[in-house]
Amino acid sequence: MAAEAETEARLMKVVRLIAGTMVADVCSIYRRTDDNRMELIATEGLREDAIHRTFLAIDEGLVGQIAQTAQPLSIQDAPRHPSFSYRPETGEDPYHAFLGVPILKNGRVEGVLTVQNRTERLYQDDEIDSLQTIAMVLAEIVPSSISGPEQTDAARDGRPVNLQGRSLCGGLGMGRVRLHDPVIPAARFFAEDPEVEEHRLENALEELHLSIDRLLAAEIGGLWGEPREVIEAYKLLASDPTWAEKLREGVRGGLSAEASIDRLRREHRARFEKVKDPYLRERLHDLEDLDNRLLRMLAGGDTQNGNHKKPLSDEPEILIARRLGPAELLDYGKAGFAAIVLEEVATSSHAAIVARGLGIPTVGGIDGLLTHVSRGDPIIVDGEDGRVHLRPDEDLLKAYANRQAVLSERQKIFAALRDEPTESKDGVPVRLLINAGLGLDTEHLDSTGAEGIGLFRTEFQFLMSEKLPSTTDQIELYKHVLKAANGRPVYFRTLDLGGDKLLPNLNDAREENPALGWRSIRFALDRPGLFRRQMRALLRASEDQSLSVMFPMVTSAHEFRRAKTMLQEEVRWGQRRGFEGPKALKIGAMLETPAFAYALEDIADEVDFVSIGTNDMLQFFHAADRMTPLVSERYPFVSRPVMRFLAQVFETCTRLRIPVSICGEGAGRPLEALCLIGLGYRSLSMPGGGIGPVKRMLRSLDLSEFGPAFADLLQKRDPALREGVLEIALSQGIVLNDV
Ligand code: PEP
Ligand code: MG
Repeated sequence: MAAEAETEARLMKVVRLIAGTMVADVCSIYRRTDDNRMELIATEGLREDAIHRTFLAIDEGLVGQIAQTAQPLSIQDAPRHPSFSYRPETGEDPYHAFLGVPILKNGRVEGVLTVQNRTERLYQDDEIDSLQTIAMVLAEIVPSSISGPEQTDAARDGRPVNLQGRSLCGGLGMGRVRLHDPVIPAARFFAEDPEVEEHRLENALEELHLSIDRLLAAEIGGLWGEPREVIEAYKLLASDPTWAEKLREGVRGGLSAEASIDRLRREHRARFEKVKDPYLRERLHDLEDLDNRLLRMLAGGDTQNGNHKKPLSDEPEILIARRLGPAELLDYGKAGFAAIVLEEVATSSHAAIVARGLGIPTVGGIDGLLTHVSRGDPIIVDGEDGRVHLRPDEDLLKAYANRQAVLSERQKIFAALRDEPTESKDGVPVRLLINAGLGLDTEHLDSTGAEGIGLFRTEFQFLMSEKLPSTTDQIELYKHVLKAANGRPVYFRTLDLGGDKLLPNLNDAREENPALGWRSIRFALDRPGLFRRQMRALLRASEDQSLSVMFPMVTSAHEFRRAKTMLQEEVRWGQRRGFEGPKALKIGAMLETPAFAYALEDIADEVDFVSIGTNDMLQFFHAADRMTPLVSERYPFVSRPVMRFLAQVFETCTRLRIPVSICGEGAGRPLEALCLIGLGYRSLSMPGGGIGPVKRMLRSLDLSEFGPAFADLLQKRDPALREGVLEIALSQGIVLNDV
């Protein structure tokens, strides 16, 4: 195959060789065309004049089926198969036995390789295996015959490209592209000595296991909670004997260790493309990650200390990958890359969880990313708004360099504010707390100097786990959070599933309007087993401490009472069994539906506190889905109707002596926070990144001055409220800009 020849002649030689070796009457190669058809490009045994004349639709015939499923197909009597598509020009009538395998490149089916025999027979597993191996080599050694992922014109010419993805972790990173996917040099495809090759493979496998153990060890990971679980599941996968055995088989069959891994990697990738089930996808993704990792070990990538993951030069590097498994991401994360960009990733995927835990600017979900980049390209990753600028021009580089300088300056200012009193210039204290949901998030408590966790989203643990977290898992997480809080208050919000937070087989039935549907407390009350288990976990975790629990999206007094009664029953249940229970228990409700604002009167003596979840509250108030940017951004937080409503709720709570606070993203933006403080709110819980900017605003605020001006502004009928607040802020020297 390595012989010099024109592609066409080479391919004909190849099919002849394969047919001869496999004792097949026919061997053909089909190529996937740009318009997604399968074109016959070489054949031994079919009529030669059918070459470049026979085209099959991508879902047509047996070849189409292989292209679609990316799986081999072996059939005893092809013409009787329901998918068989008869093409008279090929003269294939007399052939019965059929075997076809996909030709895979970068997880994409680029072609199909088939063999056929006159007799009715079923090809054996080892024959299928051999043909798959040949298909792989074919894709590598005759690349021009099979199209790979083409680079875009812009990439070839080095022109700038701006790409929009999703932010997985905020921050800004600038540097040069470093590509993640290992490439196998064609020279290393065949083993000179299978024994030596098997030895290399065994060594690499052993090293792989050790490296995962090291990842799990505290010195490297300091890993806790969900990301740790993810890596543990990954470790199990690495110990799967079927996987290792398949690798050994390849080597015994004459492939190099690299080629054997690569063969499996192609399969995993191709299957990944086809599978819809998120659980299976994640498994296949992790498998591919293992393949990649093993390849690196063989490449002698200094696996002892992870040097291969270190940036190569002093210039900051930005890692670009099609996908990254959780373990790879952790390695990279610890190695000092300035940012990470992933072609494929869901915000709820394992990689996204780890990315947020690591705090490295990360953007995901950019289709075709790899076709735009080359190694060493300059790149800017804006994790704040999910944007990536490839080969930026001088002006953009300068603009971002400024922005980066400002951001780091800003970080310094915020860090300096950390230990300053959280109060206004005229001495009015305001509690600033953080919203959290992962074990790792608790780190923000100390880094920001927040006064506690105003909202702990307990459902995250459920969403991140492969299985339902046991009571013990839950107790462990809650204990960890309480320990990290070290006496600072933590408001645990009970399971808030439903809406966009779905669990397979639990609440994933399709609904017309999920945000208004069977979710939050409604769902929890209907699933008392699950709900009570969580309550037990909360009570057990907080023995000998204070515990604050709040129920999400309460709509009526009745709902609150039912949930509270259940919690109290659980307290008694524990006491009967000799558990002490918390020192003090506070039971609150989240105000996320406007209706609940009018139910407060009825439960004033029963509720210990109320926390307004402005994210949901606003979507219900405005009837504008928070997940649909087209509408959610149309109705602003800082508007007269919202302010009037929040003023009313504040007044009601004050009159009824119900402590009230705000949680939700809005509380973390200085201008919104200023309005909330202006309305009288003194407790705000927000994403960790909001504490610095809001605290800076607060410390520049003279409430005795701002309060009356704001009250006046609210009286006016002019709709431009935001501008009005900005004007007052400017005239009173209140620092609002967070950049
Ligand atoms: C909210 O709705 O404001 C809130 C804090 O809860 P979540 O964002 O988790 O729905
Ligand atoms: Mg909510």
